[in-house]
Amino acid sequence: MFHKILIANRGEIALRVLRAAKELGIQTVAVHSTADADAMHVRLADESVCIGPPASRDSYLNIHQILAACEITGADAVHPGYGFLSENAKFSEILDAHNLTFIGPRAEHIRVMGDKIEAKRTAKRLGIPVVPGSEGAVTDDTEAKRIAAEIGYPVLVKASAGGGGRGMKVAKTEADLSDALANARNEAGAAFGDDAVYIEKYLAKPRHIEVQIMGDGKGNAIHLGERDCSLQRRHQKVWEEANSPALNVEQRMKIGEICSRAVADLGYSGAGTIEFLYEDGEFYFIEMNTRLQVEHPVTEAITGIDLVHEQIRVASGGGLSVTQDEVRFHGHAIECRINAEDPRTFVPSPGVITHFHTPGGLGVRVDSGVYSGYKIPPYYDSLIGKLIVHGRNRVECMMRLRRALDEFVVDGINSTLPLFRDLVGNVDVANGDYDIHWLEKYLADSK
Ligand code: ADP
Repeated sequence: MFHKILIANRGEIALRVLRAAKELGIQTVAVHSTADADAMHVRLADESVCIGPPASRDSYLNIHQILAACEITGADAVHPGYGFLSENAKFSEILDAHNLTFIGPRAEHIRVMGDKIEAKRTAKRLGIPVVPGSEGAVTDDTEAKRIAAEIGYPVLVKASAGGGGRGMKVAKTEADLSDALANARNEAGAAFGDDAVYIEKYLAKPRHIEVQIMGDGKGNAIHLGERDCSLQRRHQKVWEEANSPALNVEQRMKIGEICSRAVADLGYSGAGTIEFLYEDGEFYFIEMNTRLQVEHPVTEAITGIDLVHEQIRVASGGGLSVTQDEVRFHGHAIECRINAEDPRTFVPSPGVITHFHTPGGLGVRVDSGVYSGYKIPPYYDSLIGKLIVHGRNRVECMMRLRRALDEFVVDGINSTLPLFRDLVGNVDVANGDYDIHWLEKYLADSK
């Protein structure tokens, strides 16, 4: 087992990792920018190192500084959290070259899944269902037209290097296709320096359903069920639940087994998420994230398994603590991402939180790095906390969530709490009857 873990992140996820390490009796090192000197993860860690000025590229993304912090403190492993360096294959190789363990999958797997065309090709080879579309990049418009006609309109043109929904264009008919291809190529070239694009069938009303997997790197893997993250705004997840209200037990186990078999075949190590669009009973692979996800606590709530413990165990060579047969699903869990943003316009609202009171009681978890008097710096993302509620079934979970949201107090800044108080009382949400466009439409209608 590791002696000391350096946590190359900030905010709630740095705290989350720190808690898991402490429980395993491992020393912790926090790194922070000058803007985060007062952050909770810095206060709770055994040691801390300032790694640079506020801008992420100079601090949380500064590999030299992070290596120096490992050297100074004698850390033997690095947990990257999510975002920042968590899906940076080069970072994992550099750590490796310095005899430091990257708590995450091997560089080759990060790399394959970071390229959308390569990822889709790999998924298909491993028996994961994918969206019908072109085999690889399309460079020729005539060829593109032939493929689009074969899969049927509307089609979606996507950038191979894509991320955050950029470089994606819908073509409703053949007349739109040339423009869609040209626009997607331009956008992708400008945003990612790579203008390779491919074509997929456009799904009109899908849900976003993702499967949590864990591999031991030695050919064994398990799945921990799925999460439904269909409630999104601008492709950002807002509300996540486990299990999905749309699946039954057979569907859950079937897609879960497809995913665990695939990552076992790959020899994958650590936590990963295979994301799908789901429509009319069919799953369509969109991407695999080779890291811990923001929404992992809903999976922890229904399985009772600490995913960060498992990540640390696997990275240290200790294998997984559970077999698939030992994984049990209990009840239902929902996570609300509480952002420091105006609940209507979503304009960020940095500043001082004058009063912060979190709800408690059975089945209520709050993962947050903020406290009363904390000043939210303007340099990073606007997530201030996650409320995760668990109940024996979805109805109990929703009732508990409503109660917990009533107790939650965030004063001094705007937060998205009022949005969740609205959502928890909405009939479609209560029925689990939503797709990936539902929230945008709801927000537009309630303007
Ligand atoms: P990115 O990496 O840019 O976020 P993804 O491939 O994960 O791109 O897709 C982002 C979002 O775009 C999905 O969550 C979904 O809302 C939408 N999307 C992606 N592929 C399709 C598709 N074939 N049909 C309809 N919507 C899609």
